[in-house]
Order: sequence, then C-alpha cells, then structure tokens
Amino acid sequence: MRRFLLLAILGVLACVWFFRRKRRMSARSHPVSPHKMVPCQRCGVYVSATQAVYVAGAVYCCDTHAFANRRAT
Ligand SMILES: [Zn+2]
Repeated sequence: MRRFLLLAILGVLACVWFFRRKRRMSARSHPVSPHKMVPCQRCGVYVSATQAVYVAGAVYCCDTHAFANRRAT
C-alpha cells in the first residue's frame, strides 16, 4: 500500500512537471515582439514603434524631424 501511494505521488509530480515544462516551451516558441522597430521618414534611424512620432501616416524618430519634414513640404 505504501509503495502504491509513493508511486501515485511521484506520478502526480511527474505530470505537474511535464505540463509546466510544456507550457514554458510553447511560450518560448512564440515570442511576442514587445519592441517593433520602425524607420524614421527623414533620417532612417530605427526607433521603437511606441516611441515614434506619427504625422499624417508618416513615421519619425522625434518631433524635430516630424516638424522639419512638415515645413519642407
Ligand atoms: Zn529622424
């Protein structure tokens, strides 16, 4: 009886370990890109999409380049 109980506990622990590992592996195989990089329309420097300045559908690295391009056109 004791032996069976020990095997059952080991079986449960093995299942928990297996499913945790499987979940961790699947999370690694589909990494989410938190920092998508986009090029500046004026100078070509790549900046994070969250920090880029968007003006009339164009992407800029900073306010200076956004306004400089606006004045030029
Ligand atoms: Zn720029």
